[in-house]
Amino acid sequence: MQTESRSIDTLRSREVERLVVGQPTSDGAGVRLTRVLTRELQRRLDPYLMLDEFRSDDPDDYLAGFPDHPHRGFETITYMIAGQMRHRDNNGGQGLLDAGGVQWMTAGRGIIHSEMPEQKDGLMHGFQLWLNLPAADKMIAPSYRDIAASGIPELTTPEGVRVKVIAGRTLGVAGAVARETTEPLYLDLHMPAGSAGAQELPATHNAFLYVYAGEVEVGGERRKVGAQRLAVLTNDPLADGVSIRAGAETRLLLVAGRPLNEPIAQHGPFVMNTAQQITQAIADYQAGRF
Ligand code: MN
Repeated sequence: MQTESRSIDTLRSREVERLVVGQPTSDGAGVRLTRVLTRELQRRLDPYLMLDEFRSDDPDDYLAGFPDHPHRGFETITYMIAGQMRHRDNNGGQGLLDAGGVQWMTAGRGIIHSEMPEQKDGLMHGFQLWLNLPAADKMIAPSYRDIAASGIPELTTPEGVRVKVIAGRTLGVAGAVARETTEPLYLDLHMPAGSAGAQELPATHNAFLYVYAGEVEVGGERRKVGAQRLAVLTNDPLADGVSIRAGAETRLLLVAGRPLNEPIAQHGPFVMNTAQQITQAIADYQAGRF
């Protein structure tokens, strides 16, 4: 994570602005999950709209899955830590999401898909992150990409921090996906106890991290961020990035992106810019135009 030009000792780090505890909820046909990035954070963490964590070894929590449902106006990024999910969509897309793999789906002008567990028992653990599309791209053609675990670029820093680069770029390693307007950075970090790392972040970008196992200290203030906590990182025009120290063995997601600063109109699985576009999305879906 440590970049060529900055070490953890010289980097001016963002601090923790706010700690967020996820809200237990259910979605799809009754999958129990934790909504970590909720609607009230959409402005603050623009261009990100939602982050869900699903983690359970009780099949009753996940077997119902997410049967056919529509999306329009943004992208969904599903990252599996454990378990298997089958994706099917009305655009001909199909794939098996396996541990360590990523599904990057661009809903664009409209897609109908299902995400169903391909296991009867055992642990199902993963994340779904929603990345907004710029107004100009909301009605692009839908597309879908499966990236197996082996296709996610990975590196290990001299401190022993393992970094999976899902999107963006770190230490000269380009991630599996890049986006021009929002320049998403999406890293999964596996930090040994006692390790530290620094990641440069453009000062203009919104950023957050989510600890899903272990505990870290963030920034010069060394604010503690424990497991199942999302830390909103300050926007400091003078900060170069973020420094992170792991107290225990820790796994966390580090996410950043350039805000769109466009109006957000959401109705369930449709995210557009105006109420009129939402009405149109519902009408198009009901008329079978997806
Ligand atoms: Mn979906």
